[in-house]
Amino acid sequence: MDDQLYGTRNKRGDWAPHGRSEIAPFWAWPPQFLKVLKWIPGFVWPWNAFHMATALLWWYFVVPDIETMKTLSWGWAAWLLGVNWLAALAFYGFYEWRFYVRKVQGQRFKYHHKFPSEQPSDVFWFKSQNIDNFLRSFLVSIPLWTLVQVIFLWSFAKGSVPWLRWADHPLYLAALVLVAPAIHEVHFFVIHRAIHTKWLYKWIHSIHHNSVNPSPFSSLSMHPVEAFLYHAVALWHLVIPSNPIVALFQLHMAGFGAINGHLGFEKLELTDALSMDSHAYTHYLHHKHFEVNFGGDGLIPLDTWMGTWHDGSKEGDRLMQARYEKKLERINRRNNGRNDGRRKETPPSPHE
Ligand SMILES: [Zn+2]
Ligand SMILES: [Zn+2]
Repeated sequence: MDDQLYGTRNKRGDWAPHGRSEIAPFWAWPPQFLKVLKWIPGFVWPWNAFHMATALLWWYFVVPDIETMKTLSWGWAAWLLGVNWLAALAFYGFYEWRFYVRKVQGQRFKYHHKFPSEQPSDVFWFKSQNIDNFLRSFLVSIPLWTLVQVIFLWSFAKGSVPWLRWADHPLYLAALVLVAPAIHEVHFFVIHRAIHTKWLYKWIHSIHHNSVNPSPFSSLSMHPVEAFLYHAVALWHLVIPSNPIVALFQLHMAGFGAINGHLGFEKLELTDALSMDSHAYTHYLHHKHFEVNFGGDGLIPLDTWMGTWHDGSKEGDRLMQARYEKKLERINRRNNGRNDGRRKETPPSPHE
C-alpha cells in the first residue's frame, strides 16, 4: 500500500497521517446521526470484538470452576498466570515479530523513522528497549494483571459481590458491556493524569515513558504501581453490579488493549489491499510530546475538556505550544515573586 496517499513523511523520515483525530461523534452538537452510524463498526471491530472473544474464551476454557475459586490458592493463580503469559507472548509477540523483527511492512505507515533496536540507550535494562520492555511486561505487569484477575474471580466465586446472571439481566449486562470502554477511558485518564504529577512521574511513570518510540512490547512496560492501578480497572465490577465475563472483558481491554497506543504504525497491512487501523496515533503523540492526550481516542473526550487534546494537526501543535508558553510564564511569574526576579526556570519541554 502507498502510505503517501494517507499521510506525509517529513525530512527526518517520520510519517504522520493526513487530517486530524476526532473524538467520538456522539459528542457533536447538533447531533450527527450519520456520522455516529458510520463510527459504530470501528468501535466494535476489530478491537472490542477481540477483547470480548478472548473474555469468552477465558471464561469457558481457562477460568477454573467456581468451587475451586472459592478458596485462594497458588495452584489456580499460577495456572491463570501461565495462560496470561502465553497469550501475551503470542499476542504482543506476533505484532513485535511481524512489524519490528521481520519488518514485513518496512517503514510504511510508521510514525517514527527509526526502529527501537537502532537506538540503544542507558535508560533501558541491558541498554535495549526491546529486552527492557519485554522483561518489565512479563515479570511485573502480567503477574499484576493476573493478581487483579484472581481478586475479582475469587470475590465473585465466594459471593462477596453481586453476580448478575445473563438470563436475568440481559439488557443491563449488554449495556454494561457497551459502557465498559468508557469506564476504561475514564479510569485510565484519571490514573494517567495523576502519575504525570511531578513526584509520581519521576518515581513511577517515567519507566513507561522511557520508550519515546514505542513498540508493542512497550505497551505493558510499567512500574509495578502503574501496572496494578492500570489493570485494577476491572475491579470496578466489584463495585458496580456485574458479571465475571464483563469483568474479564474489562480486564482484557486493559491487558491486551494496551497494544493500541504502542503499535507505532497507522495501518497494519494484512495483504496488498487489506489493512487494519491501529488507533495508535493519539497515544503515540502522548509519547512524543508528553503533555497531551492523557486519555484514549476520545470516546469520553476528557482531554478536550481539560484542554490537553492534540488531534495530530498543525493547529494541535500550535495549541500545545501556546499551553507550554503559558506554563512557562506562570512558573517564571511565581519564581519572580519568590526571588525578586533573579531566577528563571524552564518547565520540562514537550518532546521533539
Ligand atoms: Zn504518560
Ligand atoms: Zn504508552
